[in-house]
Amino acid sequence: MRKKIVAGNWKMNLDYNEGLGVFTEIINMVKDEVTGAQEAVICSPFIHINSLVQLAKGYNKVSVGAQNAHQAESGAYTGEISARMIKSIGAAYVILGHSERRQYFGETNELLAKKTDTVLKHDLRPIFCIGETLREREANEHFDVIKSQLVEGVFHLDAEQFGKLVLAYEPVWAIGTGVTASSAQAQEIHEFIRKEIAAKYSQEVADSTTILYGGSCNPKNAAELFACPDIDGGLIGGASLKSRDFVDIIKAFN
Ligand code: PEP
Repeated sequence: MRKKIVAGNWKMNLDYNEGLGVFTEIINMVKDEVTGAQEAVICSPFIHINSLVQLAKGYNKVSVGAQNAHQAESGAYTGEISARMIKSIGAAYVILGHSERRQYFGETNELLAKKTDTVLKHDLRPIFCIGETLREREANEHFDVIKSQLVEGVFHLDAEQFGKLVLAYEPVWAIGTGVTASSAQAQEIHEFIRKEIAAKYSQEVADSTTILYGGSCNPKNAAELFACPDIDGGLIGGASLKSRDFVDIIKAFN
């Protein structure tokens, strides 16, 4: 059975004290209310990570991640954070390839392949995001775009390394827009991704890869999305900033 995960992406929101407050509420609610084996992950701004890791100690259902890491080991890259630094404060995950990083920071599949290698080298699990823009979907290019993101971003990994990845399908047109992909649209792409993994690696690898859906997921639509056979959880932006909403999404698996 593959792991079910609901990961929150706080983006550049919540100051230090606000973040600790929301996270404490999430931990308490998860402890009291989540009965299944799903894992909750909060990918916070870097400044929160160390404290969130301390707060999460002893709660094996809640982990902490970063939202980015530099591809180099260390060096003269002013303002950047390395995978080794992230590992050293106890984070477990790193989001890579989020569409906002691709769009606003020019991150390409080639760069993301390097970041993936560095993150894996430091024993962190990438949550690797892929997804098409509205223009690409309207031009019926979405399958090709997703295939190239997989081939150029992560299919250079061997099967053992690939097994450490979490994938997130995030149609760009659904991120932060309030427009969710229908469960049929999301399932169609998740099934396609799993078939591509099976063709590249094996059915066993494909069956054990966690593939999250992201894009305006909320407590109202999560249960229908998570009930799809190839959707193993969510990557949640806006709704992860509110503890009640985020935990209700986690509970969509209960
Ligand atoms: C995201 O940014 O990864 C995301 C899914 O955002 P939202 O849930 O706000 O659409």
